[in-house]
Amino acid sequence: MAKLFRGKEVSDALTQKLIEEVKALGERNIVPTLAIIRVGNKGDDISYEKGATKRCEAIGVQVKNFIFEETVSQMELIRTIETINQDKSIHGVLLFRPLPEHMDDASIRAALAPEKDMDGITDVSMAGVYADEEMGYPPCTPKACMEILDYYGVDLGGKNIVIIGRSLVVGKPLAMMAMKKNGTVTICHSKTVDLEEVARKADILIVAVGRAKAIGASFVNENQIIIDVGINFTEEGILCGDVDFEKVEPLVQAITPVPGGVGTVTTGILAMHVAQAAKKAAV
Ligand code: NAP
Repeated sequence: MAKLFRGKEVSDALTQKLIEEVKALGERNIVPTLAIIRVGNKGDDISYEKGATKRCEAIGVQVKNFIFEETVSQMELIRTIETINQDKSIHGVLLFRPLPEHMDDASIRAALAPEKDMDGITDVSMAGVYADEEMGYPPCTPKACMEILDYYGVDLGGKNIVIIGRSLVVGKPLAMMAMKKNGTVTICHSKTVDLEEVARKADILIVAVGRAKAIGASFVNENQIIIDVGINFTEEGILCGDVDFEKVEPLVQAITPVPGGVGTVTTGILAMHVAQAAKKAAV
């Protein structure tokens, strides 16, 4: 039976640490504040917004919501972002994407001040991840994967790390973060040949494919640590990961469950970024 790498344990530890940091900022009359910008009423966005708000408030991070109809103009959205950029009482921004089709994603991202970009969406934040420099903030999800590995004492040095998925929000930044910790990283995608064999050779297999239960027993080995980034729903409407947990869990050394894994840590990372931004703004 595999050890479960539980997101809640990681998240609780992170929350405790952050409560102390936010309290210290409060003593200097600084209340870390996050602006959440949502366009439209997508269920996924609303549910993430609720979770993020609950987590932030438990830590003492204030949340201000900016909600727009799907039909809002690009100009109005950019104006709001520019106002937030100038607002010293707001330290960070979470902007839900994808945006409606009538908007140019690159122009919207470019409007956001990198020092308020809490989820690594600006070009400057991305450059920070790739150049390994403190510019903007990295995306929360890959950071959450690293936080889980760190919490459970997994040393990435010299390990063979296979990441399935090459998106800009998960796979690519994760590869940079794992390499920074001296892992030897392979990124796989839909055109990878012999994916099962490549995956089986990993010491740490990180899966961000976006397909329910796509990774089964033939992809894993008995010494492996599996990080499942996936968030999917089965045909019966049950939340599940990209890994077939029932089949894989008995075969590996450790695994993150879904629900209760990476997703649980992501909002903690978001709150951490807001606290860091508030601290930096106060210097
Ligand atoms: P994405 O942009 O759709 O990327 C999926 C990646 O998987 C692509 O690189 C794709 O390859 C690859 N892929 C698809 N089918 C494949 C196959 N059969 N074999 C090998 N590779 C395959 O997805 P994403 O945004 O990175 O998200 C990935 C998963 O993470 C989703 O389940 C999403 O819901 C979840 N997620 C979770 C969190 C969280 O906080 N836990 C946050 C964000 C996303 P190509 O590039 O060749 O198309």
